[in-house]
Amino acid sequence: MSSGMVDAFRLFYHRKFHTVEQIRRYQEKQLRRLIDLSMNESSFYRERFSTHIPRTLEELSFVSPINKEIMMANFDRLNTIGVKLEDVKAFAVQKELAKDYLGYYQDRVVVGLSSGTSGNKGVYLTPKELTKKLPFVFLARGGIPLRHLPFRILFCLRVFGQGFDDINSPLVHLHYCATMTPVDEIIDQLNSKRINILMAPPSLVRILLPHKDRIKVKFKQIVCYAEVLEKEEKERFKKAFATNIVEIYQASEGQIASACRHGNLHINEDLVIVELTDEQGNKIEKPGELAKHMYVTNLVNFAQPLIRYEMNDLVVLGEKCPCGSRFRTIDHILGRNDDILYFITLDNRRIPVFPDLISRWIITATDDIREYQVHQTKDGDMEVKIETLPDVHEDPKIIATKVKCRIEEELLQFRIRTEVRVIPADLPLPEDRSKYKRFVVAR
Ligand SMILES: [Zn+2]
Repeated sequence: MSSGMVDAFRLFYHRKFHTVEQIRRYQEKQLRRLIDLSMNESSFYRERFSTHIPRTLEELSFVSPINKEIMMANFDRLNTIGVKLEDVKAFAVQKELAKDYLGYYQDRVVVGLSSGTSGNKGVYLTPKELTKKLPFVFLARGGIPLRHLPFRILFCLRVFGQGFDDINSPLVHLHYCATMTPVDEIIDQLNSKRINILMAPPSLVRILLPHKDRIKVKFKQIVCYAEVLEKEEKERFKKAFATNIVEIYQASEGQIASACRHGNLHINEDLVIVELTDEQGNKIEKPGELAKHMYVTNLVNFAQPLIRYEMNDLVVLGEKCPCGSRFRTIDHILGRNDDILYFITLDNRRIPVFPDLISRWIITATDDIREYQVHQTKDGDMEVKIETLPDVHEDPKIIATKVKCRIEEELLQFRIRTEVRVIPADLPLPEDRSKYKRFVVAR
């Protein structure tokens, strides 16, 4: 293994906390480091903590939260590396249009775009050094027992990111493929590379299901991420592929949770501080109890410090896990339950197009959208409702046309010709936002 990999494994695999107290001490040490650096390098945080500098988890819980809107509005002052929003946005959009997902901005950071659950665009910076370690977080925290070495992994990603080069070492072979790769090609890769570990979003595993007899390799593990994996579906995959199914919960804001060897999701308490509270701000600590707010503090990303950042997802805590880890478990995640759209290609194939991909097209078509919702009532059909930001001067109809052209153009690349209806509309978020679905397929 390369030394970078050994480091990463050491960092993410072997760290053990025996007590809750040890976790708290570690988090507070990392938190102080993060806050000191943020106060040195970010005028946003310098101002924010001018009257009181939180040094403990207790003190952190009194810090007023930020969210995507606040983060974006203060982008230039919040990041610690002197990057300007205008510049990185232009960089990211240009990369998106060029379908070029490799490369660091100024050779320092990966620029990620996210629509999140609240519609408008978020721009996230991940330092080069951290990015290189992320595949190993996925690996080491993927609940894959070391007895399954050597790993021959196929890692299916929506988009390729920097640091995601195929890795070949005696013990780990890591291959990447885009989730939009045709099924036949994915099956070819699985068979020819003798893949024994598949890492893919549940929607892709679902697509492989009817073809399972053509897959000649036996998976030792399937690792799912990027979407909610329903319990019934997990059982179905498990039966169909006769293997273990584990999950990773990753967001633009951080690597929130990964599964252990028992298949339970544990919060990565050494990478993020996750606070759950009720309406009054009281801590939610009991399994099964529904929180109203979820705040994340990312302990490892120093380029764009997120300190008490409110997420739109919510998690429900689970029971203590028999694996012995003291990291809290997550019973389930609310809020990311989008449907997949299906289209018919010019050569008459029925193919899926993933919500994340469509989201990226929409948010890179214009800066002016506050919220959107995509509906499909039959294969090939598509209607997008958009609500523009309040201070936009452009005619919503023109914005709608931009979105329409962009989606149709992108679909054409997959040999799909369809007329997309884009309609300006009011899209209030429902009271219970965990119920909000941005992609709705109703056949
Ligand atoms: Zn566990």
